[in-house]
Amino acid sequence: MCAIHDDVRPGMIRSILRNKCPRCRRGDLFSYRNPYDLRSFMKMPETCSVCGQPFEIEVGFYYGTSYVSYALAVAVSVASFIAWKLMIGMSLNDNRLFWWMGVNAVLLVVLQPLLMRLSRAIWIYFFVGYDPEWSSGLVGAPERMNKELRNGW
Ligand SMILES: [Zn+2]
Repeated sequence: MCAIHDDVRPGMIRSILRNKCPRCRRGDLFSYRNPYDLRSFMKMPETCSVCGQPFEIEVGFYYGTSYVSYALAVAVSVASFIAWKLMIGMSLNDNRLFWWMGVNAVLLVVLQPLLMRLSRAIWIYFFVGYDPEWSSGLVGAPERMNKELRNGW
């Protein structure tokens, strides 16, 4: 199906971070590369441009990403808390704890587009595995698709 087919299996973590299709790990999950173009950053093609895998497997598929997104926000907060404690320190006798809260809130807002994309990528990787035969052109049809509800989440 595609000329760039090779037998190398791209790593899962790397493919998730690069927002690649879960089935072939080559096509892009999102239509536009720039995550900070806020009007279009969540637009996804209907199917993978490389292997044809549908990206919205069923109606409301990405509704579940809120759980992933929540976990990521907690992970970022924990990481920033640890970094803050190590580099700046934390004490109940001054405002450093509140400064961390403020900085962490700003950090979460700034990272939000990246985290939202990452959540979708992680979510679809739960349901679609890598297929070594991805170039065969045989793809499972999406379940209960409703075109009007696409991208509505
Ligand atoms: Zn693909």
